[in-house]
Amino acid sequence: MAVPKRRTSHSRQGMRRSHLHLKPMQIQYCPRCEQQVLPHHLCSNCGHYQGREVVPEEAEKK
Ligand SMILES: [Zn+2]
Repeated sequence: MAVPKRRTSHSRQGMRRSHLHLKPMQIQYCPRCEQQVLPHHLCSNCGHYQGREVVPEEAEKK
């Protein structure tokens, strides 16, 4: 079984983990109701996407 010859120093460990960070979440705002929406998703508040109504008002309440 392969065994590490040297222990990983805290510096090396930090260098390896420097790429493990998460990117901040991308948030856009609905041009119709100013709610926060994810990119390429329809607005959960008013049901609009790309300036047109996708989900009717009645269907949202259910
Ligand atoms: Zn909206």
